[in-house]
Parts: sequence; C-alpha cells; structure tokens
Amino acid sequence: MGDCIFCKIIAGDIPSTKVYEDELTYAFRDINPQAKVHILVAPKEHMKDMAECAKRTDDLAGHMMKVCVKIAEAEGLENGYRLITNKGDHGCQSVGHLHVHILGGEKLSDKMG
Ligand code: 5GP
Ligand code: ZN
Repeated sequence: MGDCIFCKIIAGDIPSTKVYEDELTYAFRDINPQAKVHILVAPKEHMKDMAECAKRTDDLAGHMMKVCVKIAEAEGLENGYRLITNKGDHGCQSVGHLHVHILGGEKLSDKMG
C-alpha cells in the first residue's frame, strides 16, 4: 500500500487531473487515454480489485457504479460509454488499486477482449 501509485494520487502526492471527488471515491483522467474520454474512478480506501470490494458489507461497489454514471452524464456522454474494471493477470490489471475505467466520447471497438 505504501508504494501504491493511486493512493499517492488520491493523497495529492502525485498530480492528477481530478474530475470528481466525494467522501468515498476519487476520479481522474487516465494518463494514457484509450479513448477521447478516459477517466478512472477509484475508492479512496486502498483495495486491490472489485473482488475485494465485493466482499465488503457496505455498498461501495454500487456507489462506484453510480459515480461512474454521474461522471459520464457530466462529461456529456449521451451517446454511450463503456465501464471496465480489470482484475489480475488475465484481466491485465496493471495498477493494484481498484479502479473503474470510463471510456467514451467516440465510438469504441466492438471487441472487448
Ligand atoms: P489497469 O491496467 O490497471 O486496468 O489500468 C491502469 C490505468 O492507470 C492505465 O490505463 C494507466 O494508463 C493508468 N495510469 C497508470 N499510472 C497513472 C498515473 O500516474 N496517472 C494517471 N492519471 N493514470 C495512470
Ligand atoms: Zn492504493
């Protein structure tokens, strides 16, 4: 956790382009965007992935989805968007702090794999 890049971003120790913040989540623009709009939504509390989040007794996972929708609407993605959360090696997760990608602003590939 001490070396977690997203914890450092959330703490403000590494700069980021903030899009949204509430008591539970922090959202910022991806440094290497894969679409015209590419935003990452992360919980402020460190957890490695959605599987860990899903074991919680609270509704953080649901809250994160609602935050994604709120941001997508605020970004004007009325023609649609894609939400992705990668897990582990097969999912090609590269940062071990849970985040949901919001991708949109243009027509995305019909291939997801
Ligand atoms: P993953 O592959 O874990 O699902 O996604 C990690 C994402 O984090 C990648 O899309 C990558 O571009 C983004 N990323 C990695 N390091 C940084 C950073 O320091 N700042 C920002 N804004 N995005 C980052
Ligand atoms: Zn972290």
